[in-house]
Amino acid sequence: MPEDGMKVGVLALQGAFREHREVFDGLGAEAIEVRVSEDLAGCDSLVLPGGESTVIGKLLVSSGLLGPVGDRIRDGVPTFATCAGLILLAREVLDRRDGDVGLDLLDLQVRRNAYGPQRQSFEVPLAIAALGARPFPGVFIRAPAILAVGDGAEVLAHHDDQPVLVRSGSIWAATFHPELSGDLRLHQRFLQEVP
Ligand code: GLN
Repeated sequence: MPEDGMKVGVLALQGAFREHREVFDGLGAEAIEVRVSEDLAGCDSLVLPGGESTVIGKLLVSSGLLGPVGDRIRDGVPTFATCAGLILLAREVLDRRDGDVGLDLLDLQVRRNAYGPQRQSFEVPLAIAALGARPFPGVFIRAPAILAVGDGAEVLAHHDDQPVLVRSGSIWAATFHPELSGDLRLHQRFLQEVP
């Protein structure tokens, strides 16, 4: 299996990091929970999980990880961001407040909690050509919407005509939660990007 021996650093400050780790473990990759900058040593890819982007942002600052994580991503380490992780990477967050932290590395315009109170959480089948013909279960939890995508980013899946999975260079980012779907294909596909 090509995944064997890979070391994935899963940012483990808040949110759904355990679930990502379990998926990677299931795929035979070694997943490390990253809480301080020393944990990044030897990681050949990174995961920014879902959770609460404002909280993760504050913890990135207090843990001293904001700079080192940003440097890694800028250096081109393959990075998989989901939901709050995508919000943290986005260049423009319409409802970002003073003091909210962002990494400003992915050319997207997003709106947080965009689906409204009636549709806070839902599951829909998504067509993702990169994963083959079988639809992927898209689990959305207080998800952001991607309102605009910069030239460098490629849209890999839509829901209701809006992008929900994008790729830009070494960054893959989803507004949904593949780690909660029971379907390992997206994590597996991401690992194929790791040199
Ligand atoms: N609503 C959260 C935020 O704005 C994201 C939700 C999630 O990651 N499931 O940070």
